[in-house]
Amino acid sequence: MANKGTCKAAECSREVVGKGYCRKHYRMWRHGEMPKPRYKTCTFEKCRKRWFRGSLCEEHFKAKRGASAGAAAAPAAPAAPAATA
Ligand SMILES: [Zn+2]
Ligand SMILES: [Zn+2]
Repeated sequence: MANKGTCKAAECSREVVGKGYCRKHYRMWRHGEMPKPRYKTCTFEKCRKRWFRGSLCEEHFKAKRGASAGAAAAPAAPAAPAATA
């Protein structure tokens, strides 16, 4: 694929030029101004959340599991009593 994706810097969606960063962030990275990622990030498209399991973030990992498990167990909604404060 020709498209390398978008910058992995937080809240940046510019086109990647190097090291997973856009031109601006890549320059910052070369100057040592970007924090080194200490954790893997979710491989789900357009998701850069912290890696949880199976190369996905917690949200997408659970979503994937839930989808593969089918509509089995509906979560028991706990009755929320109206707090009289
Ligand atoms: Zn960027
Ligand atoms: Zn994700």
